[in-house]
Amino acid sequence: MKFGGTSVADIDRIRNVARHVKREVDAGHEVAVVVSAMSGTTNQLVAWCEAASLLFDAREYDAVVATGEEVTAGLLAITLQDLDVNARSWQGWQLPILTSDAHGSARILEVNGEELIRRFRERKEVAVVAGFQGLHKQTGRITTLGRGGSDTSAVAIAAAIRADRCDIYTDVDGVYTTDPRVVPRARRLDKVAFEEMLELASLGAKVLQVRSVELGMVHNVRIFVRSSFEAPDKIDPHGHPPGTLICDEGEIMEQQTVTGIAFSRDEAQISVRQVQDKPGVAAAIFGPLAETNINVDMIVQNVSADGKTTDITFTVPAADYQRALDVITKAKAAVGYARLDGATDVAKVSVIGIGMRSHAGVAALAFKALAERSINIRAITTSEIKFSLLIDAAFTELAVRTLHSLYQLDNAAV
Ligand code: ADP
Ligand code: ASP
Ligand code: MG
Repeated sequence: MKFGGTSVADIDRIRNVARHVKREVDAGHEVAVVVSAMSGTTNQLVAWCEAASLLFDAREYDAVVATGEEVTAGLLAITLQDLDVNARSWQGWQLPILTSDAHGSARILEVNGEELIRRFRERKEVAVVAGFQGLHKQTGRITTLGRGGSDTSAVAIAAAIRADRCDIYTDVDGVYTTDPRVVPRARRLDKVAFEEMLELASLGAKVLQVRSVELGMVHNVRIFVRSSFEAPDKIDPHGHPPGTLICDEGEIMEQQTVTGIAFSRDEAQISVRQVQDKPGVAAAIFGPLAETNINVDMIVQNVSADGKTTDITFTVPAADYQRALDVITKAKAAVGYARLDGATDVAKVSVIGIGMRSHAGVAALAFKALAERSINIRAITTSEIKFSLLIDAAFTELAVRTLHSLYQLDNAAV
């Protein structure tokens, strides 16, 4: 059972979470719990690091931001004990949850779940694990898993204790066809295939961290996204509560062509103008970006009209925009270009669905619908089960709503 930031925002909500846990324990289920920091806490901790120094040491950043979850784990253990549930908090280093040393975005390498299983079996002791954090074995330092990382902690622990299911309790009652805060007509999905969820999450739907879905897929952990705001005592612990199951494609009976729409405003566009149209130019641009650890997403290159020069346009995370411009400016002599243009007021809207594998013309419908609303498309990428469009950020919501209706995802009842 994992509870996100809004679900543990204050003591009353933590008590509410404790009741959810107690319900499952009373029903005879063996559980382990993972918690996030109280909502707003991690942002505050990050802001303090930035205020302390713009060039903060990533190891100390982790030492600071990992504390949010430690508070909640202790508080939930206290409230559980108050309800006569035997409970004990665990920080990442105590289990331990071993990770890589990529501070700020570490990967989980190993989790030992045996002690948790033993304690539950012997004395019904519920483990309350601080999410988002781990330990780098060689240096012995605290690491964190990247924003939203408690989801990943939860799936990793579920795998380690060989859980039947990993329930992600959050502030929505499942995964929707798109962010329900932006499109009120969004529909809750009963089941979503791992592969689709991977795309939804990596293209902007922040309901699950991408790595949690990856882990679920690799270790075959069924993930169930559900609401923590339902009255804990009204739920039948043996029944079928509302929510979304992330599972193997084979478990899903009827498959729509389009499952959902994701969007991200954290994009920036860079256009390198009038580069030589000859072998080695792309390598000269993208090599240095890769060496600087900047993730390039969409890439568009025109065929040159005169056989001499062309433009290359690509996108990077908005946070890396300035760095990327610097890298390309430094590489100017090696690349050979006339001008560098960029924009940060862009957004990426993506349409996802396994059904696209077997249907032609799905993207063409989108181009037409957006054109009818005079929304210009700056770049396009496609893959087997998704396509993404780069547009002006101002049109994000209009584009998402337009595509949501176009692919018949609207909830008729709203
Ligand atoms: P938590 O604090 O519980 O981890 P998050 O804020 O990380 O919660 O994730 C839940 C939020 O994800 C929802 O409030 C919702 O606004 C957003 N979200 C974005 N896309 C979707 C989607 N397709 N389905 C459901 N929620 C979504
Ligand atoms: N507290 C961390 C964050 O805000 C991790 C999480 O909530 O999943 O990113
Ligand atoms: Mg989250």
